[in-house]
Amino acid sequence: MIPFNKPYTSGNELSYMQDAVSRGKISGNGYYTKKCHDFFQDYFGFKKVLLTTSCTDALEMCAILANIQPGDEVIIPSYTFVSTAIAFIRQGAKIVFIDSKVDHPNMDESLLESLITSKTRVIVPVHYAGKPCEMDIIMEIATRYKLLVIEDAAQAICAKFKGSYVGSMGHLAAFSFHETKNIIAGEGGLLVINDHRFSDRAEIIWEKGTNRAEFFRGEVNKYGWKDVGSSFLPSDLIAAFLYGQLENLEEIQERRLQIWNAYNVGLKNWSVHNNITLCNYEEEQQNNAHMFYIICESLEQRQRLIRHLAKHNIMAVFHYISLHASEYYRDRHDGRNLPHADLFSDKLLRLPFFYELNPNIVVERLLEF
Ligand SMILES: *Cc1c(COP(=O)(O)O)cnc(C)c1O
Repeated sequence: MIPFNKPYTSGNELSYMQDAVSRGKISGNGYYTKKCHDFFQDYFGFKKVLLTTSCTDALEMCAILANIQPGDEVIIPSYTFVSTAIAFIRQGAKIVFIDSKVDHPNMDESLLESLITSKTRVIVPVHYAGKPCEMDIIMEIATRYKLLVIEDAAQAICAKFKGSYVGSMGHLAAFSFHETKNIIAGEGGLLVINDHRFSDRAEIIWEKGTNRAEFFRGEVNKYGWKDVGSSFLPSDLIAAFLYGQLENLEEIQERRLQIWNAYNVGLKNWSVHNNITLCNYEEEQQNNAHMFYIICESLEQRQRLIRHLAKHNIMAVFHYISLHASEYYRDRHDGRNLPHADLFSDKLLRLPFFYELNPNIVVERLLEF
């Protein structure tokens, strides 16, 4: 069977977990957490980072940091994972869903200004499949209207937009190390703080509303309750596993790019023949090989493709159901049609994609379709 996703180890993940135990501290903010923080700051040039228990939690921290109040409006693409929205819903925000581009699930930034009202506080670009949103235009609009930009970069580690790493452009950004992402820790995430106004408060919210991080650095001689917060920091065991992956980041990315290219080359003629569109990246958008998806000509064709692959024990899966049409939100949605988000709900199909995959087996089966 070829599953859609399969977790993997790339080298030292398990021995680092063992080492974390030997060091006598496996709660949060330990030895490996610091090593991961240093890695992200050095490799990506992020100013301040905090490992979190998930990308969802990093987004929740963002919503707290943005001081979202009931009734504040947050602009989010409808074609995204639930987490992008629930982080803000918990603070009482009203979600204003923005449609996707006609040819890609990312937000259509040309619609942004028409959705901004006096209550708008935050724009959340989601870099779907690691393809960067048009960050220069989004940041320009945000600056003009004094809005915060929080990047949902869950799928976008190593992606670049015009030379800048995704996650370094918004005021805040969130990454995921869920087992389905490029770099994994089972469950895990990262908050990136590019706007230094949020740095001190982020650390307090991260450590259950206390200034314990400051205390451990020896900057204060006792710590206490300062603010709201939660237990957003992961165990050092998770950080140890993650550090084992980060050490091999470039090799992992190289392997994923090979898989991506094998799909892209192998399916080119086939896609034209079947009226199917393959995902693509432009020159200025460094492809991080997170995902290989195809856009089918119809929902019916997608069903046939899924069945064809399943018959050969290959698991291809579709992705989001537009959030504006979800059971939870459809009655709260303002009624605007979001045709492109719906199009991707119906027609987008993701092919198996993981470190140890041999994509040629999947390609061969697809060519028989
Ligand atoms: C995976 C994902 C998330 C959630 O990440 P977790 O680490 O599982 O919380 C959020 N947004 C997007 C776009 C994702 O793909």
